[in-house]
Parts: sequence; structure tokens; C-alpha cells
Amino acid sequence: MLGQMMHMPLTIGSLIDHAARFHTAGEIVSVETTGGIEKSTWGEVGANAHRLASALRKLGLEQGARCGTIAWNNRRHLEIYFGVAGGGFVCHTINPRMGPEQMVYVINHAEDQVLFIDATFVSAAGKLAPALKHTKHIVLLGPRDEAAAEAVPGLLFFDELLETGDPSEPFPDLDERAASSLCYTSGTTGNPKGVLYSHRSTVLHTLAGNQPDGLGISAKDTVLPVVPMFHVNAWGVPYISAMTGCKLVLPGPNLDGKSLVNLIDETETTMALGVPTIWMGLLGALKETGSKIPSLTRTLVGGSALPPSMIPKFAEYGVELIHGWGMTETSPLGTMNQLLQRHTNLSEDEQAEIRVGQGRPPFGVDLRVMDEEGNVLPHDGKAQGDLQIRGHWIAETYFGKETSALTDDGWFDTGDVATINEEGYMIIRDRSKDIIKSGGEWISTVTLENIAISHPAISNAAAIGAVHEKWDERPVVVAIKSGEVSEDELIAFYKGKVESWQIPDRVVFVDELPIGATGKVQKNKLRDEYGKILLDA
Ligand code: AMP
Repeated sequence: MLGQMMHMPLTIGSLIDHAARFHTAGEIVSVETTGGIEKSTWGEVGANAHRLASALRKLGLEQGARCGTIAWNNRRHLEIYFGVAGGGFVCHTINPRMGPEQMVYVINHAEDQVLFIDATFVSAAGKLAPALKHTKHIVLLGPRDEAAAEAVPGLLFFDELLETGDPSEPFPDLDERAASSLCYTSGTTGNPKGVLYSHRSTVLHTLAGNQPDGLGISAKDTVLPVVPMFHVNAWGVPYISAMTGCKLVLPGPNLDGKSLVNLIDETETTMALGVPTIWMGLLGALKETGSKIPSLTRTLVGGSALPPSMIPKFAEYGVELIHGWGMTETSPLGTMNQLLQRHTNLSEDEQAEIRVGQGRPPFGVDLRVMDEEGNVLPHDGKAQGDLQIRGHWIAETYFGKETSALTDDGWFDTGDVATINEEGYMIIRDRSKDIIKSGGEWISTVTLENIAISHPAISNAAAIGAVHEKWDERPVVVAIKSGEVSEDELIAFYKGKVESWQIPDRVVFVDELPIGATGKVQKNKLRDEYGKILLDA
């Protein structure tokens, strides 16, 4: 016997319709690419999303057609998120930090028919255009601009395109399993792979990711996603914001510490989200500007490991750091770190120790760790193995591929090495391809990096396995100094903090680390440069 309740498909269009109807005057603050700050509302964004869906239909796009975006976090990009998916098309966000060859590859692979670009990318788009096989229209996010029109033949303008659409045209009825958005992984080797999200997976991710023990965003919040809208749908924040009707602040192109401090203070941001390098920049700017960012209560940190030393630094400003883990294939929220009731009486240091891990999975995803023989390892906080995940918002197959991306028994192997403890707290020990294999034993690069970064004269560090004649690999730390410290002193700093055989053989000081398109240190580049340093010696 079936239940007798209404069946309504879980769609992205319903999220923006809810925001527009019940949070009509809720504010959207957008830093424009041209510099100014523009204020809008959920009501206006909702109307424009409908205009856009209608305009795209009139342009001749059919259901499922892909629309690419190369854009910063701003109001028009938000309207594309909802208008494209709401209209039954697929919003393909493109990382502008990809090289031109990879960009052409993903645009052609996705068969993007329309490409929305921010003013920053006009000249790049002009150069790419001849190589794009399926793209019929390039649309500049803004009003008519004659100089841009000359640079890109046939260029359309977002504001003019919207005028051709009807704000009262309802979104089409969609199957909740229909594709809604597409994001390519930032693979370091080979071509990027596409992850094709559905309306259903996105709405479930929105509901489950925003539980009180997850992002916990409410209508009272002012939320600043520093995480780009081209990086796994800004971790789902645009959808969560529409669901809750919170005030949303979109930071535009300038993500340096000082710009962010000013924006947080001006908009009275309460919650912000981004990768650790962003927060390192912010901490530097706080010292410089003297701002105490009084409005900010919490930030979600993810994308790469949260350096433990950051927790007390932010606590000085009354900001709680919530550590989260996920990947493009997991929509991305896989785990978030919030404390349990029994942790409330622990000291700040003891709480911080729990908080540096990546946290627990929300309802809707399941995790396990596996040994090399394919046995499931116990949740004891010690057994370390390959982290696998399954759930409602986890990829099954890559876009355009026939074969499943899953194990025979239906799990997605993340490529991360982790432990899970009795209470379900997961800790990423390393990427399986980064972990250092020294004489048959594993050394976690994350642990070595955290120790280096906790040294007062080190601002950032990355550890790699360098080839070694006797031990196969030995640890080498590549670090950026912010004060006076010698190689020997930093090596000595590891004594007593890790087993003696885990202490790095060498420290190399550099002015900067190679940072990839999504804010992660590119260890493959470091291995190319320093991977033979122990042999040369
Ligand atoms: P991406 O698909 O580009 O978002 O990359 C996903 C990968 O980033 C994961 O498989 C992890 O290796 C890494 N990652 C994401 N979040 C964290 C985190 N909180 N701590 C450590 N690594 C992370």
C-alpha cells in the first residue's frame, strides 16, 4: 500500500520560488566585477531567474541544454544558478583558473550552448570562441558594453537578454532526477571529469547540509560564501541561502584579506565559508587593519585541511571554525565538525583537538574505511585506510562515461586516507597519492604540515615524499617563512611532536607555494621540483 501524501518533485526552481515568495525583501549584496556594491532582494533574484529561464527557452534551448558560466560570485551569477536549472537547463560552472586548453576541453565536453562570462573574461572568451564547437551564444554579465561587443563578435548582454524573458512564466515541470548542474573536478593528471548533479540530489544536499549540526544557517544570518560559485556550487550555499532566506553577500573578484575584512564589517556578516588560504589572508589583514570583525560568529573551513593553529587565532576574535570535508563528487558536503553534547564541558584546548578533524557525516551519507585487501576497518580512530562514501548526493558515474565510478558493492572511493572513531568523527590523514611511504610505513603529510605551520616563524608549509635510496621515500617540508628560523631549527621543532623516524629529512624555504585552481597546494609540482632533492645530496 502506498502512502497518500502529495508528491512534489524536489527541484531547484522550488527553492528560489520559496525565497522570492516568503523572503521577498531579503537582501542580496553583490560586489560587482566593475567595483561597486549592488543591492538586490530574493524577490528580484527570483523574478530575474524566471526571466532568464523564459529568455533561454525563447533562444531555442531545449531541456537539458548546458549553459557554461565563467564568473565570480555576484548577483547575476546567482540568477543563472536558479534560472538555468529552474528552466530545465544545466548550469555548468567553469573554473576560470584552469588553463585555456582545459577550459576549451570542458566547454566542448559539456557541449555548452550558451556561455555566460564576467567582464574580467571578455578577452579570454574572445580567444577561446573559435575553438568552441557547440557554443552558440556568449553572454556578458552586465548591460550593453560596446568595447566588449567589439572584442567578441555576436556577444549578447545579460541585462538585455533578461528583458526578452517573462518574469511570470512558471518554471517547467521537471523530473526531480533531471540534471541541474555540472562541475568538473580539478584533476591534476589527465582531463577533468564532470560530475552531473540532479535537482533531487541538490535539494537533499541543501536540506541535510544545513541541519543545526551542519552549516546551521538561518534566516537571521548574513552569509558570505568566499568559496567560489565555480567550486562545487559554492559548497551548496546559494541553494541553502534560498531555502533559509538569509541575507547573502557575494564578494565578487577580490578575495584578499583586506577586501574581505571590509566586506564583513560593512555587511555585518555572521557566517562565512572558504578554504584555509583565504582565512590565512584574513588573519593577516585583521592584524593590519585592527578590525575585530565583531559581527562574524563562525566560518566553515574546507577544501583542504584546517591548520590546527588557526582555531585559537580565530577564537581571539570570537569566531568559531567549523571544519568540513567534501569533494566535487560529493556535492560537496560529506562531513562537518560540530561538537556533541558530552563535549560541552571540555576545555577549549580539548574541544579544539576534536574540531581539527573533518567531522561527522550528516544523515544521508554513509562512510567507511577499507584496508588494501578490501576489508572494512573498525571505527576506532586508529585503523587508517581508504575512505569510501555513499549517499543521496554522491556521484555514481562521471558525465559522458558509460561505466560506473563505484566499487562493485556501490561505494565511491574518495582517494583520501582516513580514520573514523567510535563517535563517527572522521579524520583525513592524507590523499592516498600524497602520503609518504617510508620503509613500508606511512607518514602523514598533513601532520607534518600542521607542525610546521604551528611554528611562529612559518606562515605556510607543504610536505612531500622525496625519493630516497634506502627508504623509498622520506619527508621533505617546503615552507614559507614569516620570521627568522633556520632549516635545522625547524627540523628540531619536530622532536617530541612526531616519532623520530617521521621527522623531515630536509626543509626547503620558498617565497610561495604553487596553489591550484581550487585553493589547494599542488603537491605534484612540488614533487617535480623537490622530489629528487635527497638523491642529489
Ligand atoms: P575537490 O573535488 O576539488 O573539492 O577536492 C576534493 C579533495 O579535497 C578531497 O578528496 C580531499 O583530498 C581534499 N579536501 C577537501 N576538504 C578537505 C579537508 N577539510 N581536509 C583535508 N582535505 C580536504
